[in-house]
Formats: sequence, C-alpha cells, structure tokens
Amino acid sequence: MAYDPENIFARILRGEIPCKKVYEDDWALAFHDINPLMPVHVLVIPKGPYVSLDDFSAKAPAEALGGFLKAVGEVARLMGVDESGYRIVANSGADANQEVPHFHVHVFGGRRIGGRMIKPQD
Ligand code: AMP
Repeated sequence: MAYDPENIFARILRGEIPCKKVYEDDWALAFHDINPLMPVHVLVIPKGPYVSLDDFSAKAPAEALGGFLKAVGEVARLMGVDESGYRIVANSGADANQEVPHFHVHVFGGRRIGGRMIKPQD
C-alpha cells in the first residue's frame, strides 16, 4: 500500500492537528489515543512515511528502527508501566483492522489485561 501523506497521523506529525503529546525525539512521537481503551493507551509513531511494521522494517534505516524501539521503551517508563506491565499492539492491514495507515504501536497498560493476544475490547 502506498503511503497517504494526508492520513491523520501524518497531519499530527506536521502539526496540523493537535495531540496530547507524551514524548518526542528525532525518531518518534508518542501521544495519548483519542479513544483510550485502557488507563494507559499511548500511540507511538515513527516520524517517517511508513504504512505498517513490515513497510517500516523494509525501508527505514537501522538508526530509525533502533530509535523508534528505544522511544517505545521510554514511553513505557514515562507512563510508569515498566514495572506493572504493558502490552504492545501493532495492527497492520485489513485483517488486523488497521484504521490509520501510518505505522504505530499501541502501548496498553494501567490495569490487568486479558490473556488473549488482541486488543483489550475484543
Ligand atoms: P489502529 O486500529 O491500530 O489503526 O488504531 C488507530 C488508533 O488511532 C485508534 O485507537 C484511534 O482511537 C486512534 N486515533 C485516531 N485518530 C486519533 C487522533 N487524532 N489522536 C489520537 N488518536 C487517534
């Protein structure tokens, strides 16, 4: 799938739409999900134009891949869930119901999550 520069997360990155920022560095922006499913529900997005995890991993330089992963860990610490626990979800494509076509991971935490490896509401 080609990257759509008008997707909502691209617009957040350009500052055209506000977000409740949690963290930002050269590689990533993290902000609260607008429709939180858990006490902690933060989205972390890379700054480059990648649709999905496979697109990101195929096209991004190693520095960007590493920088993004470090940012996800930093977000877990900043949100105070590094000790209590958290779940990372990255929906990619139609079968995973990916809504926004800019690669992102969800950081869920703040309460006990069900045992299944899917979104908390499913
Ligand atoms: P996904 O199904 O993984 O693509 O999830 C997209 C997520 O983006 C959903 O959890 C939405 O609630 C969230 N979302 C959509 N628009 C915004 C926005 N403007 N600010 C923050 N989160 C958003």
